[in-house]
Amino acid sequence: MNALAPHRADRTAPYYRPVSQECALFEAAHAKGLPLLLKGPTGCGKTRFVEHMAARLGRPLYTVACHDDLSAADLIGRYLLRGGETEWVDGPLTRAVREGAICYLDEVIEARKDVTVVLHPLTDNRRTLMIDRTGEELVAPPGFMLVASYNPGYQNVLKRLKPSTRQRFLSISFGFPDPATEMAVVARESGLDAARTAPLVRLAGMIRALSGMDLEEGVSTRLLIYAASLIAAGMPLERALQAAVVEPLTDEPDVAEALRDLIASVY
Ligand code: ADP
Repeated sequence: MNALAPHRADRTAPYYRPVSQECALFEAAHAKGLPLLLKGPTGCGKTRFVEHMAARLGRPLYTVACHDDLSAADLIGRYLLRGGETEWVDGPLTRAVREGAICYLDEVIEARKDVTVVLHPLTDNRRTLMIDRTGEELVAPPGFMLVASYNPGYQNVLKRLKPSTRQRFLSISFGFPDPATEMAVVARESGLDAARTAPLVRLAGMIRALSGMDLEEGVSTRLLIYAASLIAAGMPLERALQAAVVEPLTDEPDVAEALRDLIASVY
């Protein structure tokens, strides 16, 4: 997605099924202007949650997928040459501050170190964004909220979020949803009936119990939805699970074999 294209506030918020009290916490954080950190594995609903809450609160949303080359300038903006003239162009974070929007930094831990420096004055009671290049100092209006996510699971030691940064955010841990919630989510998102969704969710529980041993991470809700969508579209079960579960989780033939054994034990 283009980071500069915000999702506009929508009267029908994207479907999100709460797992616990996360919606109330998000609302309270937004009302108080506090930043929020979502911790959890990939594909467990963090992005959908933010999209849902932004729509519910009627705020535009700027989502930035962070990567190891993402710098403060990418977030704040830069001078660009246009028709022989240099022109300042706001980055997504600056736009979000100006508009009182929600800015979601997905996988913030991947970004370059200079990003943290920019976030600090925004995440304490100053709520300011310094734009060194233009000399501007923006004070965030009440609607602005900073949300960041990171996956504590597979980060290496060098990529831990520093306590000085972590302690600036309210935090919520996201795990995979409980089976009843996950059943409802997978069925709703894929269109697969409950009878055929149940074994998929059971299988997910068994695979997740293996994660950390042979598997780096358990199967995500996102992958379950992929599998369910293929099955709902008529693909034979075995092929759907091979493409949506086994192959995405491992490159090791032994582990793939073990996963296929697990699948056989469920079906
Ligand atoms: P993350 O941002 O954690 O990587 P996403 O928010 O992209 O994951 O979630 C992946 C998919 O799982 C979403 O597109 C959505 O279909 C589904 N999903 C997961 N949890 C929920 C939930 N609680 N309610 C609704 N959909 C969910």
